[in-house]
Amino acid sequence: EVKKNFKNGYQFYTKSLNEHLEEKLELESELRRGIANNELVLHYQPKFSVDGEVVLGMEALVRWQHPQRGLIPPGLFLPIAEETGLIFDIGTWVLKKACSQMKTWQDKGGLQIPIAVNLSSQQFHQLNFEQHIQSILVDTGLEPKFLELEITESMMMDAKTSTLTLQKLSNLGVKISLDDFGTGYSSLSYLKQFPINRLKIDRSFIMDITNNEHDKAIVSTIISMAKHLNMEVTAEGIETKDQLDFLLPNKSMEIQGYYFSKPLTAEDVEIHYMRRAVLE
Ligand code: C2E
Ligand code: MG
Ligand code: MG
Ligand code: MG
Repeated sequence: EVKKNFKNGYQFYTKSLNEHLEEKLELESELRRGIANNELVLHYQPKFSVDGEVVLGMEALVRWQHPQRGLIPPGLFLPIAEETGLIFDIGTWVLKKACSQMKTWQDKGGLQIPIAVNLSSQQFHQLNFEQHIQSILVDTGLEPKFLELEITESMMMDAKTSTLTLQKLSNLGVKISLDDFGTGYSSLSYLKQFPINRLKIDRSFIMDITNNEHDKAIVSTIISMAKHLNMEVTAEGIETKDQLDFLLPNKSMEIQGYYFSKPLTAEDVEIHYMRRAVLE
């Protein structure tokens, strides 16, 4: 009896591992097919002044519009894209799409704001990345100052190469933001030496900001440090009025979160933020 149970248990275990692998392979080939079939879409999350009056920028966020499974969030397919190298195709597509979309909005809607694009580590570390960016800007006609590249602290572990790439990007005129700031391992001396324009305070520090004294202290410290380093600041993941109230005294801060707006389809951006211009 015991032996039999053990055997069944063992078989069940190996089967589930196989299933896991099969699912992964299936996801990979599905993703390949999806990319070829133009199923990736960008949503855009507006970022606001603290009073909510002014849209200061948009962040492009990729999704996969799967014909059967519906809209799939990036967390469910970017990891496999990174494992398989598909991230290069996806990354290039996202950059081109985001830049050309913003250029269109500027031309027909007078929306003179930057578009922020998230980078994956492999993308950022590809050879001659700044030339890749430059050719996309030339092709789409977007001015460099309207492109913000979002990187994370963990991408800069190799400080020497990263500094060089960031310097070249900065020379092009594109802006650099440090996403999910506070969750990585960046040393403060790197912060000073990298040409970084913006710190985006990670949502995890905002979540309990109304109750947690430590989070209050951390957020206040990041804000004042950024000021001294001459960097802009964005707070990510503002969901409530109370969270916003804590940040309200920081007049020049940028606010991103569901409280003001969720990520929107391109169509909804046009309806909400440039209706008149589009109808013309
Ligand atoms: P991120 O760059 O930190 O983007 C913010 C994420 O938080 C987005 O999730 C956004 O929908 C979500 N968010 C915004 N406001 C709120 C809020 O108030 N509350 C909560 N709970 N969430 C909020 P999303 O779109 O699922 O993206 C997740 C992550 O996937 C992004 O985090 C980014 O790291 C990555 N990602 C998204 N698009 C791309 C892309 O085109 N390329 C690369 N390499 N990564 C991407
Ligand atoms: Mg981001
Ligand atoms: Mg973030
Ligand atoms: Mg992130």
